[in-house]
Amino acid sequence: MTRRTKIVATIGPASDSPDRLQEVIRAGVDVVRLNLSHGPIEGHLERLAAVRAAADAVGVPVAVLADLPGPKIRAGKFPDGGVTLEGGDTVRLRAGNDPSGTDVIHVDYDTLIEDMAVDDRLIIGDGAISLRVTSVGDGEAEALIETGAHTQGRPGVHLASERFQPTTPTDEDLVLAERVAAAGVEFVAVSFVRRGADMDKVRDIVGDRAKLVAKIETAAAASNLDEIMVASDAVMVARGDLGIDCPLEDVPFLQKEIIRRCVEFGVPVITATQMLESMIYAQEPTRAEVTDVANAIFDGTDALMLSGETAIGHDPVGTVSTMAAIAQRAEAEAHYRRWALRLGRVQRDRWGSMQDRVTAALTHAASEAAVDLGVAAILCCTGSGRTATAMARFRPEAKLIALSPVPTTVRQLSLSWGVQSLQTDTYGTTDDIIWHAVERAVERGLVAAGDTIVVIAGSPLRSAGTAADVMRIVQVS
Ligand code: PEP
Repeated sequence: MTRRTKIVATIGPASDSPDRLQEVIRAGVDVVRLNLSHGPIEGHLERLAAVRAAADAVGVPVAVLADLPGPKIRAGKFPDGGVTLEGGDTVRLRAGNDPSGTDVIHVDYDTLIEDMAVDDRLIIGDGAISLRVTSVGDGEAEALIETGAHTQGRPGVHLASERFQPTTPTDEDLVLAERVAAAGVEFVAVSFVRRGADMDKVRDIVGDRAKLVAKIETAAAASNLDEIMVASDAVMVARGDLGIDCPLEDVPFLQKEIIRRCVEFGVPVITATQMLESMIYAQEPTRAEVTDVANAIFDGTDALMLSGETAIGHDPVGTVSTMAAIAQRAEAEAHYRRWALRLGRVQRDRWGSMQDRVTAALTHAASEAAVDLGVAAILCCTGSGRTATAMARFRPEAKLIALSPVPTTVRQLSLSWGVQSLQTDTYGTTDDIIWHAVERAVERGLVAAGDTIVVIAGSPLRSAGTAADVMRIVQVS
């Protein structure tokens, strides 16, 4: 593998057959996303089993990310075939689940009318339809359709106002979090978080069975990023909803800022939504999409995400290959060395606990040694994966190989920039851990006799949660 940016792909009807799953994995998928907003949990658990079988058949570690629905507010069902809401028309709004149409739209949010004020904006669906509230009466409000479009089914309704703050995670999220953690997914993503405490509620359920991904899709989450990063294992720039909750023109800047802070903090970050959207139908992406994918890489993202493109698109395999090709080309132009140059300074005062600071210091030293010696590879022997993710934040030019005896860790590292992860056994001494790590990397053809490499490891006898504390420079013979 020469590509270093990871690819997350949402699977759905277009990609969940056993053969298709193997094809998308061969095309370059590192993490499969199950979008729990669509379909019953039983279907997603079947998909999880199918992904495991496909990854085994292809022989690569693939992680699975279960994305919790969050407090999704929806419109009552529009007639079959859908309707067109015309710009300039007015429409009445009511709370409830009754059917919607061009005259009345029902919204399943009990206190809709009480919480609403004149001039509030409502977005229906993915942002194509926008309404502005013109009057609020008894049990009903009236709104002007500012931007109209066709809509069908039960589209999501977004109420762009500080007064609408449904609780997250929902009770349903917590039930689903238990189901997917028990089933063994590597990541659980939490939707519409606003504070670190929202992540803690899911952590209480999931424990250390899965890593948690905070989806940054509200203005509040963007403002509270530091506390959310502390409470999370990874972050997603969920540009779809972020572009509804914040002014659309803020999205590019927020993306850059969130990615920059995640890389500095050693938290893997996924850039998501509409990356190759036109490929749901088209053979080729637009030039703007190609540039968007490349720019996320220049921003420093760990991973790129595909949503509808691979879940319902006409060519999931071609879309993944296209994304992989754009990523590989962009990486050749991305000035990764600038991360290594500035992180040594920043990390000293930002990492809190002594264990975290040991990891920060050791990986910084390894990054410097790797450049000074021009090493072929950096090997991280890791239990939890933390040393490898902390190493990845330097975006080293050398190969970055993680070795772990924990199968879940091997798969979880599929999300981290540049990390190739290998399964090892447990050994009784630090010397043995290092020796077998080098041997394994040689067996896999990742390093060869004559190479100089850096290895990071720790004592097998240290207590759980204690950071790796040894760096050794090995000349492979
Ligand atoms: C998003 O809003 O960008 C996103 C990834 O969330 P979802 O697909 O769950 O709406």
